[in-house]
Amino acid sequence: LNDKLNAVFSKLKKQVRIDDENINEALKQVRMALLEADVNFKVVKTFINNVREKALGEEVRKSLTPDQVFIKIVNDELVDILGGKDYKEAKIKLNSNPPTVIMMAGLQGSGKTTSAGKLANFFMKQSKSVLLVAGDIYRPAAIDQLETLGRQLGCDVYSDRESKDAVKIAKDALAHAKKTAKDILIIDTAGRLHIDENLMNEIVRTKEAVNPDEVLFVADAMTGQDAVNVAKSFNDMLDATGIILTKMDGDARGGAALSIKEVTGKPLKFIGTGEKLTEFEQFYPDRMASRILGMGDIVTLVERAQESIEEGDAEEMAAKMAKHGLDFEDMLKQFRMIKKMGSLDSIMRLIPGLGNMNMGEIDDRQFKKTEAIIFSMTLKERRNGKLLNANRKKRIARGSGTNVADVNRLVNQLNQMNKMMKQMKKKLGGSNKLNPAM
Ligand code: GDP
Ligand code: MG
Repeated sequence: LNDKLNAVFSKLKKQVRIDDENINEALKQVRMALLEADVNFKVVKTFINNVREKALGEEVRKSLTPDQVFIKIVNDELVDILGGKDYKEAKIKLNSNPPTVIMMAGLQGSGKTTSAGKLANFFMKQSKSVLLVAGDIYRPAAIDQLETLGRQLGCDVYSDRESKDAVKIAKDALAHAKKTAKDILIIDTAGRLHIDENLMNEIVRTKEAVNPDEVLFVADAMTGQDAVNVAKSFNDMLDATGIILTKMDGDARGGAALSIKEVTGKPLKFIGTGEKLTEFEQFYPDRMASRILGMGDIVTLVERAQESIEEGDAEEMAAKMAKHGLDFEDMLKQFRMIKKMGSLDSIMRLIPGLGNMNMGEIDDRQFKKTEAIIFSMTLKERRNGKLLNANRKKRIARGSGTNVADVNRLVNQLNQMNKMMKQMKKKLGGSNKLNPAM
């Protein structure tokens, strides 16, 4: 897919201006990329129209070629739909009069209970006290599941195995949370395989009974278009305040995110990226945009054409790397930044522990090689180096005109960087704060 897009973009490169003729082919490819990423077709249509309008007649700036302008417009439009550039983070509205009440809603298996635990963990890390409520009373196993999560987290769980009244449990739990001065109350609810009236009634009545600050709709990204329709029904009934998109670690390319956001008009707040309690991230429109298009690399190219990177960007990147570890995409970005900044020092000194690391000479030739190798990886491989088995390495070496030893060298380099990062994190006692003086 990336190859297809790249071909289109290089055709555009030779033009001086974007016009009706040369944009159509490019738009066709973008449309296909979006549909492949499981974006709702209505959303795709609106999207394509917006991009066409913005792109046509756009003056091509000196430093940017038409293909770069076009990609930038596509990317910006995606970011816009997903929440906008100014979107800093997915804030949960905290009630000035605690507890802040958060209610989970969604289909069975969408990840409500898991996400309730992840949210509890998220707040506990901020030294907030949390009470989890077992509102799924129909399956004893559901109560067990939440209690297990509670034990793992060291978080109190409110449950009543005798009760047949989920609304009353929620009310009682709220009273209990007030009495025990909890900061956050997270109510897990029952889900069914399909939307049914009794279930919706119960959730609506629970909502009325506890007047939550947040109603978070939990959607399984793997279910694609189904998730969109369900989200719309839930939102019509419940007026959700935000969305949690789970199972983003799967094959889903984020198309569901774009569609759900556009169809419900509600902000995406978190994404689930695995079964573990820590595999949970705040949602960022720009990251999701590049994930959807699978061309974060091209966007970086465009950015490179713009003015030189400011110190702030490097700092932000350093913080991100310290927090999540590096993948090949970060590596590519980092190499580009280094190249542009002209020296290793300027970026390395921002990252404690990396200052004394030998990354080897980064001359043009080597940089091109590195770039070629990373470009020959699929998006998944770039994000998860562990996927690189012997066959994949062979394919990558062939695709990039290098050999397996070169690929191995790059993999080792990434591993080494991550090892450093881990050591440094330990040194800092798990804090993400960077100390440039170190
Ligand atoms: P619920 O029925 O809505 O409460 O869903 P659960 O929280 O019980 O989750 C259903 C299944 O999805 C469980 O096996 C979870 O471990 C799994 N799950 C939940 N969130 C994620 C996620 O972000 N990634 C992955 N891979 N699995 C998840
Ligand atoms: Mg559950």
